[in-house]
Amino acid sequence: MLDTRELGRRPGSQRQVTRTVPAPPDLGIEVLKVTEGSPVELDLRLEAVMEGVLVTGTARAVLEGECARCLEPIEDDTEVTFQELFVYDDPAHRGDPDEDDEVSTLEDDLLDLEPLLRDAVVLALPFQPLCEDDCPGLCTECGVRLEDPDHSHEAPVDPRWAGLAALKEDSSTRSQD
Ligand SMILES: [Zn+2]
Ligand SMILES: [Zn+2]
Repeated sequence: MLDTRELGRRPGSQRQVTRTVPAPPDLGIEVLKVTEGSPVELDLRLEAVMEGVLVTGTARAVLEGECARCLEPIEDDTEVTFQELFVYDDPAHRGDPDEDDEVSTLEDDLLDLEPLLRDAVVLALPFQPLCEDDCPGLCTECGVRLEDPDHSHEAPVDPRWAGLAALKEDSSTRSQD
């Protein structure tokens, strides 16, 4: 909640606000979110306009989650920008209830940034967060992280098949020649 009283209601007046707030719960998506209570740095510009207060700002926070491919923990920074008009809560602006959902209103000169922040963060997040852009993921057979590009289960591990594997390797080498 941000108090806009100091801004006044004269159109054109502006105020720069910098503050750090604790992150609300579930800020983000299931696999990647801002840790609840961790600091979110807000850098805001409030501008009084005819209908209300225009808020433009950026928010910086640290994200934690896990890689969608290999499930390694991810820690990442995010910076999101947002802009929203908060209209003054006066009867003239109270239209039909459907419309009210779309419009952010100022209540007692306070503006609630949380829904705005929530939308901005969710929009900025990748649908499938990865630990690195080319994360190789996990082996579908044994579940290890595929860091070794030669990792494979084509060669039978059972020693009884070792001879056959050698034959196979031999023939594949020959066919490449
Ligand atoms: Zn990964
Ligand atoms: Zn494997």
